[in-house]
Amino acid sequence: MAKVRFTETALRDAHQSLLATRMRTRDMIPIAEEMDKVGYFSVEAWGGATFDTCIRYLNEDPWERLRQLKSEFNKTPIQMLLRGQNLVGYKHYPDDIVEKFVEKSYENGVDIFRVFDALNDIRNMEKAIKVAKDQGAHVQGTISYTISPVHTLEDFVDLAKNLEALDCDSVAIKDMAGLITPTAAYDLVSALKEETDLLVDLHCHCTSGMTPISYYAACQAGVDILDTAISPLAWGTSQPPTESMVAALQGTEFDTGLDLKLLAHIKKYFEDIKEKYSGILDPISESIDADVLLYQIPGGMLSNLISQLKEQNALDRYNDVLDEMPRVRKDMGYPPLVTPTSQIVGIQSVMNVLGGERYKTVSNEVKEYMKGMYGKPPAPVDEKIAGKIIGDEEVITCRPADLLEPEFDKFKAEGEEKGFVKSDEDALTYAMYPPIAPKFLKGEAEEEELKPARAFGEDEGIGIPTQYNVEVDGDVFEVKIMPTGFMEIEETANGTFKPVEGGVTSSMQGMVIKLNVNVGDKVTAGSTICVIEAMKMENDIQSEVDGVVEEIFVEPGDAVSAGDTLMVIK
Ligand code: MN
Repeated sequence: MAKVRFTETALRDAHQSLLATRMRTRDMIPIAEEMDKVGYFSVEAWGGATFDTCIRYLNEDPWERLRQLKSEFNKTPIQMLLRGQNLVGYKHYPDDIVEKFVEKSYENGVDIFRVFDALNDIRNMEKAIKVAKDQGAHVQGTISYTISPVHTLEDFVDLAKNLEALDCDSVAIKDMAGLITPTAAYDLVSALKEETDLLVDLHCHCTSGMTPISYYAACQAGVDILDTAISPLAWGTSQPPTESMVAALQGTEFDTGLDLKLLAHIKKYFEDIKEKYSGILDPISESIDADVLLYQIPGGMLSNLISQLKEQNALDRYNDVLDEMPRVRKDMGYPPLVTPTSQIVGIQSVMNVLGGERYKTVSNEVKEYMKGMYGKPPAPVDEKIAGKIIGDEEVITCRPADLLEPEFDKFKAEGEEKGFVKSDEDALTYAMYPPIAPKFLKGEAEEEELKPARAFGEDEGIGIPTQYNVEVDGDVFEVKIMPTGFMEIEETANGTFKPVEGGVTSSMQGMVIKLNVNVGDKVTAGSTICVIEAMKMENDIQSEVDGVVEEIFVEPGDAVSAGDTLMVIK
């Protein structure tokens, strides 16, 4: 009997996909005991965007969440999503931080590590896999599934074989955009079952609408584990509903044996949770959008872009951005679109379209990507575009983390000296998010207010079409696009606007993470004067003129809005 088992995603991916990762620990704990009785293969409850969201928006310690969940789940393994060398951040961390993070995650309660890399570059996964294995954890290697002219079934199977050689216990097919067809699912699962001894897990999002059929095809091919979400948090950009899948397989050779009555009780609880968070829930992210098949863009990103462009009365830019995303992806060698490449490609596409010229504004992440710092792209990057972005800077071919010096002790010592790091866990939080962690660790962060349920047809006040919400893997970022340069705009007596001389303004909403100049410094046109993090991307702000820094109004850690004056250069 090929009994199929389920991983329940309600506590991680489902709310990341539908509720911008905002579910609080206090809304998870009351139902955990019931969930523990179900008999899931695992509950996915940690990692992905949850770590960042906890400290950035919820004023919650993610480590404490993990410990609390662990004390509730006595039978069911707790699973986390780990972005390989990126851990739960958006860049590569040195090996000592990866090692410490995996050790502490295991120690605090993670039983199963799902490890992936956005480029399917196994060199970015091997360190995390090895350390997790050393702890005695179940390690699930991952295939980031995508469709492109350069991705083949054979490549995916080879990757699985390499993951097996690293001692992984199972392999996940991570279909983040819901692209896998029933036939493709059948073929890939069959091949993985034939050519490896790994347990095979299929993880899909419902975005395209095909997923429940693909899940059934995967069952027929011998899949071991399917990822589902309790029905109030299912469908749309989330996973297929747990209860429906249980019912569909009942009485077949794939019967999960899960109790629908118990699931109905859990469903009732999450119905209330969904209501509570309905102010965050975008109706569009709940719907099916087959456009994802045409554009191969993660559903959440696509649907949110549509709604925002509509609200801004700027739907004419929608097609331009849609057309631009596959072009940017091609320029970058067809990366699968998943964190962080989804952000990198998505934000670059928006910048290319709204900036009026392709690659005029480029995030540091795109520069790093082009230098090979994220690993080996599936296909070579476009040389002309790379030349425009990085000039003749060297492109690396080694494992990117080989170039990184150990950092854990440095962060720990520095955080202890400043008084806000009291444990290795604190030190890891600090090491992963230096710009935002200190405020949280000092106890100065505040929990974001839960948005009230939104009434339909509510007038939110239509502004000029320069402000967007961009959703990336379930995180919503407010993005304001303004012309860059030295235009501090001042209202004049007759209500018109004029530029103020010498003021350098922020072109985006974000956080100042680095100042490269001091008052009195001479700067030349084109030199970087500060770095602003927006949408998890670091953006260099450059001086457009030669001059002297006369006054600086911001310091690292300050939040800035588009149009805020950063400094005056004369
Ligand atoms: Mn997912």
